[in-house]
Amino acid sequence: MYFIRTVTVAPRLPEKISRLDELARNLWFSWNPRAQELFRRINSSLWEEVKHNPVCFLLNVSQEQLEKVAKSESYLLLYSQVMEELDRYLSAPTWFSHHYPGHDHHVIAYFSAEFGIHESHPTYSGGLGLLAGDHCKSASDLGLPFVGVGLLYKSGYFTQRINREGWQEAHYPRLNFYQMPITPVTNPDGSPLYVPVELPGRTVYLKIWRVRVGRVQVYLLDADVTANNMADRALTGQLYGGDRETRICQEILLGIGGVRVLRALGIHPLAWHINEGHAAFLLVERIRELVQAGVPVKAAVEAVRAGTLFTTHTPVPAGHDVFSAEMIDKYFSHLYNQLGMTREDFLALGWDEEQKVFNMTLLALRLSSYCNGVSRLHGQVTRRMFRRFYPGIPMEEIPISSITNGVHINSWLAPELQELFDRYLEDGWRQNCCHRQTWERVSAIPSEELWEVHCRLKAKMVRIARDNLRGQRLRNQEPALRVREVEQYLDPGILTIGFARRFATYKRANLLLRDKERLARLVTHPQHPVQFIFAGKAHPADRLGQELIKQIYELTNQEPFKGRVVLLEDYDIALARSLLQGVDVWLNTPRRPLEASGTSGQKAALNGVIHCSILDGWWPEAYDGENGFAVGEAREYHDDETQDRDDAHSLFALLEETIIPMYYDRDQKGIPRAWIELMKRSLQTIPPFFNTERMVKEYCQQYYVPAMERNLHLSRNGCERARHLASFKERLRENWSLVHIESVKAGETRALGVGEPLPVEAVVWLGPLTPEEVMVEIVYGRVDDKCPESFEHMPGAFCLIDSHSNGQLSNINRTPMTVAEQTSTGAYLYRGNLILPQGTIGFTVRVRPASDGFAHIFELPLVAWAPQF
Ligand SMILES: *Cc1c(COP(=O)(O)O)cnc(C)c1O
Repeated sequence: MYFIRTVTVAPRLPEKISRLDELARNLWFSWNPRAQELFRRINSSLWEEVKHNPVCFLLNVSQEQLEKVAKSESYLLLYSQVMEELDRYLSAPTWFSHHYPGHDHHVIAYFSAEFGIHESHPTYSGGLGLLAGDHCKSASDLGLPFVGVGLLYKSGYFTQRINREGWQEAHYPRLNFYQMPITPVTNPDGSPLYVPVELPGRTVYLKIWRVRVGRVQVYLLDADVTANNMADRALTGQLYGGDRETRICQEILLGIGGVRVLRALGIHPLAWHINEGHAAFLLVERIRELVQAGVPVKAAVEAVRAGTLFTTHTPVPAGHDVFSAEMIDKYFSHLYNQLGMTREDFLALGWDEEQKVFNMTLLALRLSSYCNGVSRLHGQVTRRMFRRFYPGIPMEEIPISSITNGVHINSWLAPELQELFDRYLEDGWRQNCCHRQTWERVSAIPSEELWEVHCRLKAKMVRIARDNLRGQRLRNQEPALRVREVEQYLDPGILTIGFARRFATYKRANLLLRDKERLARLVTHPQHPVQFIFAGKAHPADRLGQELIKQIYELTNQEPFKGRVVLLEDYDIALARSLLQGVDVWLNTPRRPLEASGTSGQKAALNGVIHCSILDGWWPEAYDGENGFAVGEAREYHDDETQDRDDAHSLFALLEETIIPMYYDRDQKGIPRAWIELMKRSLQTIPPFFNTERMVKEYCQQYYVPAMERNLHLSRNGCERARHLASFKERLRENWSLVHIESVKAGETRALGVGEPLPVEAVVWLGPLTPEEVMVEIVYGRVDDKCPESFEHMPGAFCLIDSHSNGQLSNINRTPMTVAEQTSTGAYLYRGNLILPQGTIGFTVRVRPASDGFAHIFELPLVAWAPQF
């Protein structure tokens, strides 16, 4: 073997189109069809060949072709329009600076192990990454002072091939970063910038790549540099590859390396957003920085927590990222001293006593001021999952809330439909995409035209699907007949159902395979047949997921499913786009409630594709009975088999009785009127809310801006406030066992009229704490007897009007009580007046920490409830 050095010789861009290179290196092109058109027009087959990667395109296009377009007037016109649009986009005043002028020069940092921005950029495995990508795009549209931080994987996730037996083969291409729309970050002298991170016994150097996503920069870290040994160079080889050791190293590079990269670039964020637990080690590095600067560790923890938001995406306990204590010792023991922490203190940051593991989700949860799930249902599931860490706190007051995911409209809406919307929606519909009125106007689109565009998209999708199948068969060296056969596969006239996503078993791609005879009747129906398109990758270590793929592959080769059920390979953003824009129905069948949110159905709805899903993730919030289809009921099951059986049955019945008849119900012109009404209703109700513009605005209002302000407040004057807060919390923790309510007396509760106050008195012991340090309050709400599982944490019994009940309060309200006197024994007498709304309500009294400096009333989850009264 010998050493080769490579150089790349690119054609020279003619002067008149010299800014194409700049356009190629800003992923703004990825959500602007006209910008893509600029490349496609030069050489459309090359554009497809390079998978829409403009940097690679410009390296490979011929000089003559460039010269030719540089002489075409129509090309130059498009060029100047697009470049003007880009300039306007980058310089126009923004939503953020308009609403938060005081925070314009501050920074929000967003850490994620995946970023799914465009197909030329394979640093994603599924929904988590796609969400991060769409989040960045909307952050750019809205003008947030925002940077992303992630890892750059030499082989991405992996490329999927389906072999002749139907097994998934994972291939690991070595990406050439110099042929991607990214740029290495350099020192002022032009040399590459490297950032060091310590791993046991060595230092790993990270190279930094800048990705421009409109106005936003994403920095991706790359360990594949010559200064590192071969094993370390492979650390950023694959997304979610390798063993636990690789995983912890990757997470150290991302979390600790990521913070150092920002510092090296002179970036000092005030708000830090941890997108899933993988990046949570950034907390450790930020604490270390403050401790090194002389801040006591407990105050450092408070200051770090103040500016941190954590978004969790995992609804199952087994899905969280965990490490053994030994592994944490191996990688962090050198830091314990620097952090001013004992080993026990450090482990306690992420320790799960029940499982005896260090849990990245817990680390993030404990060190973040703000925490959210990604749909309303997922918020509930997350609160329930973590309630053991909040003993005594009513479920709804656990400080984990939710912001429902969305999708970036311009990235996912077919250009053909954008044209239609340009004609029939109001001017500026893109800017007003969060308003319901904007989408009401969909009713003005003539049904024939909407249907015509849909059919065009469907025909295009069928061509792409056949190409995919042909590609599989050619590569697998199948007989010519089998290769030719695919031209007969998939009929654009038939009701087409798409199912494409990661092949995780809980997503139940095989739900319909539970009854093959019934499925066979559907696909062979003489007048009203149905066809199915499947696609998706299984994690290379997930054998069960791969078996699902094989199971479906085998079905596709059996009669009568051949040609009516197909399995496409290498599901990625480009294939997702075609399917989501071209099928009639988008199917989602997760085992409820395991889908945290899901977003592909939102992309489908945006394109007039009907969503048909289990009521899981985002769908219960969107489904109104008339804008899509719900499979099964919003209920809980205790065993998978029953759940799968019921859901399969519901899905078949829904298809047979509702979906298929409706789709084939045509008027004289062959137009399915009722179906198009459904498409319109879906377009009117889903996109206005389920988009990332709404989502990122919510992140700003609820988390980013409060986090920035809280961080500023707590960090000022050498973290003065953080020090106070830390010692206040310590004092509360140490003395809380002495806090209790001795007795509660309520006035006459019989026949209370609306608006009449009910006097309440409580005798409260505070130990050495003072009334200023606590809040004594009456809490009242609806009584939920059906929730006894939470009762174990709420020893207080609640006085219903004239009866006693053990239960759980929901829709909780709070009324503060005030100290009337300190009794001679040292207890405090508190008084309050409860003014009750109409109906039957439960109430009780509790003591909790006074929460003035807290981000949430239960930031410190301590509470003392009244005994039975
Ligand atoms: C949107 C998207 C996802 C996430 O969709 P789910 O609803 O979670 O399945 C995954 N992969 C790709 C390529 C996507 O575009």
